[in-house]
Amino acid sequence: MTQRIAIVTGAARGIGAAVAQRLAADGNAVAVLDLDEAACANTVAAIEAAGGTALAVGADVSNEESVQAAVDRIAAELGAPTILVNNAGILRDNLLFKMSVDDWDAVMGVHLRGAFLMSRAVQKYMVEAKYGRIVNLSSTSALGNRGQANYAAAKAGMQGFTKTLAFELGKFGVTANAIAPGFIATEMTAATAERVGATFEDFKAVAASQIPVQRVGEPDDIAHTASFFASEGAGFVSGQVIYVAGGPRD
Ligand code: NAP
Repeated sequence: MTQRIAIVTGAARGIGAAVAQRLAADGNAVAVLDLDEAACANTVAAIEAAGGTALAVGADVSNEESVQAAVDRIAAELGAPTILVNNAGILRDNLLFKMSVDDWDAVMGVHLRGAFLMSRAVQKYMVEAKYGRIVNLSSTSALGNRGQANYAAAKAGMQGFTKTLAFELGKFGVTANAIAPGFIATEMTAATAERVGATFEDFKAVAASQIPVQRVGEPDDIAHTASFFASEGAGFVSGQVIYVAGGPRD
């Protein structure tokens, strides 16, 4: 198969790390992008230990200059990127009446502005190659979630953004799809458990009891879906949102 160059944002840990490893196992060279380049070392080492190719890239996806510099560097060192997974994310949960403007802006900045800046920088290479796969991380929170006015709006926004990219870029052989995970066991959900004063084990058990398949998700569950969307054979699947949540919405 053709070796493609993939970029996975927020790939130092959690879902992004699993997606990066899976895309490398699929035969792609992977740029492991995260805020702190040093934090990408574990993901890069895991990919290389499995015989794959990876490059650690430090960048803030919400910063225009940082994104352009990162994409330029990836194109120069790995080659023209034609797979992009917009995964970087943060939480700033609070009830609306306590949510600060900074909480709102920070979440919009990483999820929406970040996905926009990364996609805009990378589409040039995809259009030139007449081939591309963009995968955006939405969430079941897009359907609304107490304490997450900022995050729910951003994750719903990711779905509209994805469908618009599918319309605009389809004629260039570029697909855009979104994955909307439910509860996935990562540092993000561990931090939420801590915030509400629960142990992570108890928090996961309660979540699992409400999920039709009776377990919480693992990063590999999302990596599997990302691998499908990023695959050559998925070229007729575009503008879709798959809920990967152990049931219709949880
Ligand atoms: P995570 O463990 O918190 O990892 C997120 C990664 O993104 C971190 O390494 C973080 O770096 C990085 N990041 C944050 N801001 C960034 C920025 N401005 N530029 C570049 N990288 C940045 O989160 P996760 O649970 O794996 O979630 C990954 C994605 O899935 C997110 O978009 C999240 O919203 C979505 N999601 C997760 C769940 C879940 O249950 N876990 C459910 C639905 C959707 P730092 O550590 O330096 O901040």
